[in-house]
Amino acid sequence: MTTSEATKTAVPAILTTPAESSKPQVHDQAIDDHVDDVETPPLSQRITNLLAILLPLAGLVVGMVYAWGWGLTWVELTLMLSMYMLTGLGVTVGFHRLFAHKSFSTGPVMTSILGVLGSMSVEGSIHQWVSMHRCHHRHSDHEDDPHSPHGHGSGVKGVLKGFYYAHMGWMFRRKTGVIEQYVPDLRRSKLVNTLSALFPLWVLLSLTLPAAIGGLVTMSWTGALLGFIWGGLIRIAVVHHVTWSVNSICHLWGTRPFRTKDESRNNPIVGVLAFGEGWHNNHHAFPASARHGLRWWEFDMSYIVIWTLARLGLVWNVRLPPKERMVSKRR
Ligand SMILES: [Zn+2]
Ligand SMILES: [Zn+2]
Repeated sequence: MTTSEATKTAVPAILTTPAESSKPQVHDQAIDDHVDDVETPPLSQRITNLLAILLPLAGLVVGMVYAWGWGLTWVELTLMLSMYMLTGLGVTVGFHRLFAHKSFSTGPVMTSILGVLGSMSVEGSIHQWVSMHRCHHRHSDHEDDPHSPHGHGSGVKGVLKGFYYAHMGWMFRRKTGVIEQYVPDLRRSKLVNTLSALFPLWVLLSLTLPAAIGGLVTMSWTGALLGFIWGGLIRIAVVHHVTWSVNSICHLWGTRPFRTKDESRNNPIVGVLAFGEGWHNNHHAFPASARHGLRWWEFDMSYIVIWTLARLGLVWNVRLPPKERMVSKRR
């Protein structure tokens, strides 16, 4: 079998049901060959990543200084919160639970909406995001994990170094293009390929839409600029750091109610801020589950959205772990 044939037939282990995931996984040589090839991204990619991180932070500084001097209005706050909710859920419900784990099914309209909203969080295209995430699950907290906070030295210095690496340092050390071989299933969808290829357009929309709304609501250029800063730059900075906290904080601090082969943790603060993604030990125990907050008090905004969409008939085949599996995996 050639490499391309192998990648076409490869089914990432992360797509299996919770019950199946306990079976020995078929060794996928095609994928592993590419993962072992990990290397530093080219300078242009590192500069792009740096700008994508620094520009939103620069917006945060400018926005704070402006708010200190001239105050804030409900327009900026509403734009910031609504764009945070929409693009954050685009990542959690769309990129993560739909595209990466296929924890529910939906039609082309919802696929497009979730794909565009997730892309507007400016965390890479669908293909790039899903590749990296599936690689994380396959090698979680082991040598080939793209963003594990572990294995960076001992003591406080080692923990801090690991935290920085898992949070954002890995983006300058890992060549994202190489592991796109993780998405053979997504590559078979013309719609997802198009949505993924149009990533630069969604980034542009992510910045211009709040500016246009801010300008139209206030009928002023200042309103457009503040919409760009609060609904665009600052919102992107917050979505970035909350998402990255799942990689860093949720592999360092929190509880581990389920037995998993990694250091994943349930962290209630990230659980709330990241719309349910902070119940990360639950997620590593049952990766295909559409619900991450498995106990009634584990607030999971993304699952509430999926549950509501299912009631409306907009999504279906919502996957949940069987009760007996949850009991047997509990510590
Ligand atoms: Zn993880
Ligand atoms: Zn996941």
